[in-house]
Amino acid sequence: MNKKVYIGLGSNLGNKSKNIQNALDFIADIEGVNINKLSSLYLTAPWGRTDQDHFINQVIEIETDLSALKLLYHLQDIEIKLGRQRDGKWGPRIIDLDVLLYGEEIINLEELKVPHPYLLERLFVLIPLAEINSEIQFPDGSKIREVLSRARALKEGNDIIKL
Ligand code: ATP
Ligand code: CA
Ligand code: CA
Repeated sequence: MNKKVYIGLGSNLGNKSKNIQNALDFIADIEGVNINKLSSLYLTAPWGRTDQDHFINQVIEIETDLSALKLLYHLQDIEIKLGRQRDGKWGPRIIDLDVLLYGEEIINLEELKVPHPYLLERLFVLIPLAEINSEIQFPDGSKIREVLSRARALKEGNDIIKL
C-alpha cells in the first residue's frame, strides 16, 4: 500500500537552490516514488549550530511503496551523489534529506527515527509542511496547526523567510 511520506530538503553550501533542484530530480527518479507536492523554498537561519551560512529549505510530499529504510537508503545515496561530506553534527552541507513523517508510523531504529526527532521544534520544517498539507496529523494524534503554534511560541533561532 502506498504511504504518504514527507521529506525535508536543506542546503547551505554552494548553489543552494540548484542543490535542492538536483536532489528533487534524483528523488523523482527513484522507482516506487511519486512526488505529490512541493512547498515553496524558504531561506532559514541555521539551527543548532549558528556559525554557518543560512539554509534553503523545502518540504515535499511523496507517495511510495518503499519501506521507510529503503527510502532512507535512497536518500542517503542521493546525498552522496551530490557530494555531501560529513562536517560534524548540524554542520554545513551541500544537501540534507530527512524523512520527516512516514504515514502515521512511529519508527525507532538506530538509523531511522520517525517522526523526525526535532520536527516539533523546527519552524523551518513545520512551516513548509503546513503549507503543503494543513491537515497533517502526527502519530500521537496532534495536528500540524497546534504543533506549529507551539513551535512559534518558542521562536528562538527560528528565523524563516518564504522565497
Ligand atoms: P538532524 O537529524 O538533527 O536533522 P542531521 O540531518 O545533520 O541532523 P545527519 O548527519 O544528516 O543528521 O544524519 C545522521 C543520521 O541520522 C543518519 O546517519 C541517519 O541514519 C539518522 N537518522 C535518524 N532518523 C532519521 C530520519 N528521520 N531521516 C534521516 N536520517 C535519520
Ligand atoms: Ca537534518
Ligand atoms: Ca539528515
